[in-house]
Amino acid sequence: MNELRYADEVRRSSAYRSIAADIDRGEFSHAYFIRSEDKDAVDTLFTLIAMKAYCKDGCGKCAECHKVLVRSKPDVKYLAEGNENFSVAEMTEVTEDAGMTAFEGGRKLYFFKNFENLADAPQNKLLKTLEEPFEKVHFILSAASTATVLPTVLSRVKQVVLAAFPQEEVKNALIKDGVPPDRAERGAALSQGNLTRAREFAVDEDFSRHVSEVTDLLSELKTSADVYRFVKEGIFSKERIDRTLSMFELVFHCVLSFHLGRPMALSDKADAVRRIAEMYSVAAVGEASDAVVTCRARLKANCNATNVADYLLLKLVEVKYKCRS
Ligand SMILES: [Zn+2]
Repeated sequence: MNELRYADEVRRSSAYRSIAADIDRGEFSHAYFIRSEDKDAVDTLFTLIAMKAYCKDGCGKCAECHKVLVRSKPDVKYLAEGNENFSVAEMTEVTEDAGMTAFEGGRKLYFFKNFENLADAPQNKLLKTLEEPFEKVHFILSAASTATVLPTVLSRVKQVVLAAFPQEEVKNALIKDGVPPDRAERGAALSQGNLTRAREFAVDEDFSRHVSEVTDLLSELKTSADVYRFVKEGIFSKERIDRTLSMFELVFHCVLSFHLGRPMALSDKADAVRRIAEMYSVAAVGEASDAVVTCRARLKANCNATNVADYLLLKLVEVKYKCRS
């Protein structure tokens, strides 16, 4: 049997419930735009919507739902999954395909993940179809943000936000999915309600070492002259920088807990956290955390990893001295 990961949690989300209600009322829109950074949850949401489109209850057990689950329905297509080079020619194929009769005579669904990666030209190509929709043809687009989505496209779709999940729900979802409870707890605590991120943290064998790399750096980073050396380190590689930023967030969170006399998440790193707390006042931690947020935004805007690391470390040196307690 094909188990659908996080099905219960996503089924309870307001995003799923609002689209399911549209279907129940006979008002299934010709196009939706789902905003979420949670790729695993979006995958599940897509599957749940497809099941609901062909099965009144979206039961997950009948023949129709089974076909959706194993991706063998000819009228359900998943497009541009992670593909940054989706071309106008490919989009033309999609829009022409949308105009043809359904194989099974019912609805046709087109799911687009990572829509923010699509260039303007293929988006424009799709626009015409969104403006003059075909009967029983539905486009479900998804992206982490709307920043690179054409306003004309956005004006033609029904926008839905898949909100962050409560921490406790994230933990239980991971446990149900086979993650050991202590790791699920850790992943959930670091996830900011994002199931994809929670799982990454939970299964990360390298977690403890990665935290140590960040605490070592924070202990040793004294002046702007040190920045050049650290920027070259592996933790700021293109592949690791995103996770490294999460480690910085986590460590700063612990430093703040230490200052405020609250229990901290990384109890096995208490000595390192105390050393860092001596250098970073509460105000410095606040500004340092803001700098991490800025780094995330820059990465999302495709800034180069080295430049982002450079900005972060210079900023850390600056706030440490500016906010000396
Ligand atoms: Zn069913």
